[in-house]
Amino acid sequence: MFSRRIRYNIYDMAYFKKNDNSFVCAVCGHSVGELKYSSRDHCSECLCSLHVDNLPGDRENGCGGVLRPVSAIRNQKGFVIIFRCEKCGEIKKNKAAEDDNMPLIIELTAKPFKTDKN
Ligand SMILES: [Zn+2]
Ligand SMILES: [Zn+2]
Repeated sequence: MFSRRIRYNIYDMAYFKKNDNSFVCAVCGHSVGELKYSSRDHCSECLCSLHVDNLPGDRENGCGGVLRPVSAIRNQKGFVIIFRCEKCGEIKKNKAAEDDNMPLIIELTAKPFKTDKN
C-alpha cells in the first residue's frame, strides 16, 4: 500500500469524488476497489463517505465533512445505510454495496434511527 502512496497523492483531493473508481478511504485508509455494477459512494470497510453530493453522484455539495454511518435499514432490495455528516449534521442515505462490510451493517441495523420521512 505504501509503495503506491506517491501515485495516490495526486488524487488526494479526488477521493470519493469519482464514480465507480477505486480509491483509498480518507477515514480508515482502506484501499477500496472498483465497484463493477454501480457507482461507489462509500468505503466498503468502515462505510464512511464524504459529504460531497446534494443528489447521489452530483458532487455539487462543498461541505466535505465525513459522513459516518449511524444506522442501517433493510428493504426489499437490500440494505440502506444512513449517514450523518460530522461537519454539518445532514442525514444522508445510500444503498449498501455487495461487498460492503456486512457484519458492520448488521450491527448498524440494531441501532434504530428515525428520520422525518419514516
Ligand atoms: Zn474506510
Ligand atoms: Zn456536511
